[in-house]
Amino acid sequence: MSGHEQQFRDQRKEIREYGCQLLEDDLTTGTGGNLSVRLDDDRVAISPSGVPYEEVVIEDVPVTTTDGTVVSGAYDPSTELPMHLTVHEQRSDVEAVVHTHSPYATTFASLGEPIPASHYLVAFAGTEVPVTEYETHATQELGNVAVDALDESAKATLLRNHGVLTVGESLEDAYTVALMVEYCARIHYQARAIGEPEILPDDEVEHLQGKLDGYGQ
Ligand code: 13P
Ligand code: ZN
Repeated sequence: MSGHEQQFRDQRKEIREYGCQLLEDDLTTGTGGNLSVRLDDDRVAISPSGVPYEEVVIEDVPVTTTDGTVVSGAYDPSTELPMHLTVHEQRSDVEAVVHTHSPYATTFASLGEPIPASHYLVAFAGTEVPVTEYETHATQELGNVAVDALDESAKATLLRNHGVLTVGESLEDAYTVALMVEYCARIHYQARAIGEPEILPDDEVEHLQGKLDGYGQ
C-alpha cells in the first residue's frame, strides 16, 4: 500500500470514529449528521449516506473530487456532499467539516436565533453562532447559505430548522467546535429559562480566542 493510501485510510478511519463519537456525545441521532476531511487539493473523504456509524467499513468510506465525483469507496457519499464541498471550496483554511443535529443548538436553529456569547466558550466558534436562511437539506442552496453565514474566521453556524455546521483545521478541531456549540447552546437555554444572561462584548470574546489558541500542554 502506498503512503498516500495509508494516509487516506487514517482519515477514513477518523470519519468512522468521530461519527461514532457523535452518537456517544448526543450530538446526533441515528444516521443524522455527517463529516468530511480534505485529503489534498482535489479530494475529500466524506461519511457515507444513511449508514449507521458503527457499521461503516473504513475502506468503503467514499472519496470524491471537488466536483463531487466519487473516485473511491463502495458507499454513496452523504447527501450533504454539496454543502461540504462548498465549504471546502470557499474556506481554504478549513481541513474538516462536521454537521450535527445536536438538540440544544438545533433548538436555537429552529427559533432562528443565533447563540450569543452568554458563555465564554462560544469563543471556540466565533463571537456568536449565527443562523443561516432556511434551505432544504441536501441541496446546493444549503451550502450557499452556510458559507454566507460563516464569515472568514467563524467556525460554526446554525442551519435554520435543521442543525449545526462546524469547521476546523482537523476533524478533531471541527468536532471540538461542535461540542462547544452544543454546550454553549445548552447553557444559554438554561440561563434563559430562569433569567436573562449577560452577553460578553465582542472585544472580550476576540481576546479570549487568542487565549484559547494557546490553551493546553
Ligand atoms: P446523510 O446520511 O446523507 O449524511 O444525511 C444526514 C443528514 O444529516 C442530512 O442533513
Ligand atoms: Zn442534517
